[in-house]
Amino acid sequence: MLLAIDMHAHIHTGEKVKRSSDQLVKDGVSYHMEKHGHHPDEMAQMYQRLQMMAVIFDVDHETRTGVKISNAETAGWMQKYPKTFIGFGSVDPWKGNAAVDEVKRCADMGLRGMKFQQATQAFNPTNSRFFPIYEACVRLKLPVIFHTGTTAIGAGTPGGRGLVLEYCRPIPYIDEIAARYPELRIIMAHPAWPWHDDQLAVVRHKGNVYMDLSGWAPKYFPPSVVQNANTLIQDKVFFGSDFPVITPERWLNEFAALPIKDTVRPKILLHNAAKFLGIELPSAATA
Ligand SMILES: [Zn+2]
Repeated sequence: MLLAIDMHAHIHTGEKVKRSSDQLVKDGVSYHMEKHGHHPDEMAQMYQRLQMMAVIFDVDHETRTGVKISNAETAGWMQKYPKTFIGFGSVDPWKGNAAVDEVKRCADMGLRGMKFQQATQAFNPTNSRFFPIYEACVRLKLPVIFHTGTTAIGAGTPGGRGLVLEYCRPIPYIDEIAARYPELRIIMAHPAWPWHDDQLAVVRHKGNVYMDLSGWAPKYFPPSVVQNANTLIQDKVFFGSDFPVITPERWLNEFAALPIKDTVRPKILLHNAAKFLGIELPSAATA
């Protein structure tokens, strides 16, 4: 029986697979990944053992880092584990028409959405030069994930390895895109600390905007996030781990200790994501 859907798990594809973790951290591509079994085969086994599905993706920031990823590999992992993985694609927004074409290719390969990371991709998401990318997502009915809040990548290093946090603010950036594209379904990734109250306002105001709870150990969730997830936005918030930053087991253990209503827990863990992704649950799981 499917117990939960992890809305946010990272894999490495393309040239990232061949580089050492140290090199990737130096390149500003990633945080240290070697702590947990991170190969997609091992991840699939972990999620199967936990009776979960997971949304998996890589992030293309080739313009900034010179490192190529492969959406075809993400699609390949989804095909290898169709009952476990739901693949999202990624395009480097600075690639212009090639990025728009790659969105179409992702849809053709069966990928189910697109993931953006405004800090590592170093782009202002409200700049009109990027609108054709969102318009392709609308046409192809692909939801999008935008990173929000601070990031572990570059954290604590001089200059944060050159990453700028500004474009990860829910207001004005995500709010503006959501207003411009009401048919575009948007997931804001992570409690967007230190802008989480702005984030909650956008989730409450824009019917096409959702959020996941990934990237933060639940015991550190800001109280306003817990309170809203438990009440006003209970149908619009998803479990996510941000694996390998946090393991799904740790996330679930700490989530169990939060004061969330018993009626809301299964929504956050499973039902909201199943509905969002169009995954049919057997009737036993649709209480
Ligand atoms: Zn992430």
